[in-house]
Amino acid sequence: MINQGNIFIISAPSGVGKSSLIKYFLKKEKKINITKSISYTTRKIRSKEKNKLDYYFISKQKFKCMIKKNKFLEYAKVFNNYYGTSLKKIKKILIKGKDILLDIDWQGSKQIKKIFPFSKSIFLLPPSKKELLNRLYYRNQDKRSVILKRMKNFFNDMIHYLEYDYLIINDNFKNSISDLQSIVYSEKLLTQYQNIRYKKLINNLLKK
Ligand code: 5GP
Repeated sequence: MINQGNIFIISAPSGVGKSSLIKYFLKKEKKINITKSISYTTRKIRSKEKNKLDYYFISKQKFKCMIKKNKFLEYAKVFNNYYGTSLKKIKKILIKGKDILLDIDWQGSKQIKKIFPFSKSIFLLPPSKKELLNRLYYRNQDKRSVILKRMKNFFNDMIHYLEYDYLIINDNFKNSISDLQSIVYSEKLLTQYQNIRYKKLINNLLKK
């Protein structure tokens, strides 16, 4: 696959504040040409969400059909729902030389790392367990039973933190944004990417 863009994977246990961080980051970072991949999911749409903007909300039957047709670059079952990244859509973004941000879980991250070893993965952690529980209740978009289940799943997610390239402790929103910026900016400046981006200039400079 032709690649000029970078792939950034962001994962976090539920309630750490990943969605807000990503939303703010993308709004602020319009100039760096980074596109968030929109996943397919079988989970129910939440009140503030929009189909085709937050996710492509599809039925389990359609999702299974897409698996059979090899339409996913990766997919996983999270909290009893399926989530998957479209192969076609990722190819389209990469070929354009754009960077991609993947908001996926540790299972998806493992699969993407295998296919694209150059991709960079970031894991977000809460400042404490107490704060995490507060955030889950405050978010108030899930039933109590779901919140308790998400808390249980926290440990299952946590144990994968060492599989990631970067760790961000999401204590202070501003600091976390700045951490994320530092990661993305420094990756973009790597010689291997700059060499492609500035091929013309570099060739010119090399001329005697
Ligand atoms: P939520 O239902 O709260 O939007 O997402 C639940 C979890 O599924 C989050 O950890 C999110 O990162 C993950 N997720 C979302 N889309 C994908 C995807 O396409 N693939 C994988 N593996 N996980 C995803």
